[in-house]
Amino acid sequence: MRKIIYPGTFDPIHRGHLDIAIRASKLFDELIFVVADNESKNPLFTVVERVELILASTRDLDNVSAISTKKLIAETAREENACALIRGLRHVSDFEFEFQMAMMNYHLNPEITTIFMMPDEKYIHLNSTVIKEVTKLGGDLKDYVTKDVYGALKIKYNI
Ligand code: ADP
Repeated sequence: MRKIIYPGTFDPIHRGHLDIAIRASKLFDELIFVVADNESKNPLFTVVERVELILASTRDLDNVSAISTKKLIAETAREENACALIRGLRHVSDFEFEFQMAMMNYHLNPEITTIFMMPDEKYIHLNSTVIKEVTKLGGDLKDYVTKDVYGALKIKYNI
């Protein structure tokens, strides 16, 4: 049973995240989104809401689930018996940070391999911050999020 974890903030999940998750879920028996329970990033959605939005957005994917953690990713990977973790790479600018994190995770848990994937080019420019900012200002990004997330954003921003 080959399990992969997909760690991140997912505040909220968008189609760039989903593109990576769909590709990775075809290569592994099970994929688990791991939502970082870290208030220092001042998330718009609570950790429970972020997990729920992931579950709703991936309900058609049989081998995908979601949990949250306050622990190190290397530790969560060990607890979940995952052999790998997946990260998305959009631009060269993502690389330096991702490289450092992969090295640190390797040091903490050499059993887990970090895998990088690029999304479809139509999602390269997407990130959760852009989704929130544009929605707050009245822009319509419904093509970039699932209808569950779209509805949740409208409720948060009262629009
Ligand atoms: P963000 O706020 O930038 O969406 P997250 O912490 O939620 O960041 O991202 C979790 C993982 O998903 C990271 O590996 C990140 O590089 C990846 N990711 C974020 N946006 C995209 C995207 N548009 N396409 C592919 N991967 C992405």
